[in-house]
Amino acid sequence: MNPVLTPTPSTSLIRREVAGLPLYDPGADPDEVAALSGSGRVIKLSNNENPFGVSPAVAEAVRKALADGVSRYPDPTGRRLAEAVGRSLDVPPDRVVLGNGSENILELLCQAVLDPGDLVVTQAPGFSLHETFPRVMGARVQKVPVTAEFEFDADAWCDALAAGPKLVFLANPCNPTGAMLDAGELARVVAALPESALLVLDEAYGEFARSRPGYPDGLEALRGLDRPWIVLRTFSKAYGLAGVRVGYGIASDPALVQALDRVRTPYNVNHPAQEAAIAALGDHAHLADTVRRTALEIARVADGLRNAGLRVVPSSTNFLFIDTGRPAGHVARELHRAGIIVKAWREPGYETYIRASLSTPGDNDVFVRCLSEICAKDKP
Ligand SMILES: *Cc1c(COP(=O)(O)O)cnc(C)c1O
Repeated sequence: MNPVLTPTPSTSLIRREVAGLPLYDPGADPDEVAALSGSGRVIKLSNNENPFGVSPAVAEAVRKALADGVSRYPDPTGRRLAEAVGRSLDVPPDRVVLGNGSENILELLCQAVLDPGDLVVTQAPGFSLHETFPRVMGARVQKVPVTAEFEFDADAWCDALAAGPKLVFLANPCNPTGAMLDAGELARVVAALPESALLVLDEAYGEFARSRPGYPDGLEALRGLDRPWIVLRTFSKAYGLAGVRVGYGIASDPALVQALDRVRTPYNVNHPAQEAAIAALGDHAHLADTVRRTALEIARVADGLRNAGLRVVPSSTNFLFIDTGRPAGHVARELHRAGIIVKAWREPGYETYIRASLSTPGDNDVFVRCLSEICAKDKP
């Protein structure tokens, strides 16, 4: 017999900061969209994943990691991966921190650094976790808007930095706009950093931008800085490993890495993930191929959408921020009926925008056609 589950009211236990948080929006559920569209195949453009797949070396490494057995805990220090990352970037391994995705490192940084009431500066529109994790700690978040042309507003950033934040979350390139800061703009931010601030440069899409003229390699830009900083990168996007959850940070000093070690769950990166990342890091040709194909395809899709009369923000990434000119939630639902999932943006001022990731050329053609039709049909 089933015991009766009595609902226990826990509401009064939940911290005020937590109760007020929005839920993370992962985009629509593929199974639900498949059922709604009646097609077995869903085109998922909601999470900026890599449509070209992982390096064959990764598949082999994961198979081998599983064959090693998963009954043992993983290496809690991730030593081999930290050394591989260190070698590839010419930094000592004691400056490398590993995370269960780089999101995990964002969270650890907030836990290690923020007191209630501390100020955090980030960008709007922006990555929701740059706001959520600080708020969990009771920090205040100031979001600096982009310009009307979706460019980085260096003057507004300098003003915000003058207010004395403890943490600064800056994504380059930015999510959701896909725009990038150039070396001069990054230098202005760095020069305006208050002494008390930790700069977190989130380069989740850095691999896609590295070949673009003017894009500053964050690690090279910050290497000599006499302020605390950390550059975050991930295997989820260009390397195509979103499903195994592994990202890393390069910190200004070993003490920062040690602080994160104190707050993280000890086995935060699992064994198959560590092995997958080592293999991915070693396959330069696969990464270069992904980056090259992404740049060609993103330009083709952006052109297709612009030809249909849509405003598309120039992107240095594997996704596009698109003004549909009508409520984005409505457009997203219409796309669901065609089996396509995008993210309808919810931040104030951007409610007519969707963010759509790149897929394979055939899927992208379907997306461009469907979105163009939806936006031609009910001209506002
Ligand atoms: C995707 C993303 C991340 C991190 O993703 P992980 O899968 O946790 O490594 C971090 N920052 C931004 C801006 C992103 O878009």
